[in-house]
Amino acid sequence: MSEVMNMLTKEELNRYRRQISLLGEEGQEKLKRTKILIAGAGGLGSPVVTYLALAGIGRIAIADDDVVEVSNLNRQILHWSADVGRKKTVSAEEKVRAMNSYVELETVSCKIDETNVNDVVGDADLIVDALDNFSTRYLLNRVAIAHNIPFFHGAVRGFYGQVMTIIPHQTACIRCVFPDSPPAEIFPIIGATPGVIGSIQVTEVIKYITGQGELLTDRLLLWDGLAGVTKVILVKRNPSCEDCSHGK
Ligand SMILES: [Zn+2]
Repeated sequence: MSEVMNMLTKEELNRYRRQISLLGEEGQEKLKRTKILIAGAGGLGSPVVTYLALAGIGRIAIADDDVVEVSNLNRQILHWSADVGRKKTVSAEEKVRAMNSYVELETVSCKIDETNVNDVVGDADLIVDALDNFSTRYLLNRVAIAHNIPFFHGAVRGFYGQVMTIIPHQTACIRCVFPDSPPAEIFPIIGATPGVIGSIQVTEVIKYITGQGELLTDRLLLWDGLAGVTKVILVKRNPSCEDCSHGK
């Protein structure tokens, strides 16, 4: 993209005024130059897509293969009653276009697997984990490491959630911290939990892009909504991690 394309219009300067005072025009331009893949358009994907689109990320790709179900509506705020039966990518695309037409949006309606993951990741600068299962999460973790793409992990269950940011070859990856997958299940969840966790992931993304603050790298943030407590646990790379210990 040319430099001119990356410059902010007068309307964008006005639109983002309340955050430009925090990020600077340069920071806002960086958001505009960034392409982010959001894996999952469900409970976590909803706040992640929403806040990244509103923040003015230039290019967003959303990957999800599900159709909206009635039982999604307690938490998946991108999808509304009238969307039941529609593809989540289609529903998400409609909402993002209505929220912020400055965002260039791509959608991929497929289940991410070994055969398509490289195509899905494409030229993304960053990947946000808004998935609901560890098998796909491990796959994206490996691909993010292989392509040297920062990976923003989030996961939720019930009143609990966690966030960690992974800088490939520098900081602990998902597999370093969780060598084995928890059992797959239909987990209970209140909508506010992914609201909290997705919002923290977006905060991490904005910090990373604009070079502000301290990332949740080598630190796992645990949110306990019932206790009203947030804990941060120090974690470190596993030198024999099966995902990140090879190569570098
Ligand atoms: Zn690792």
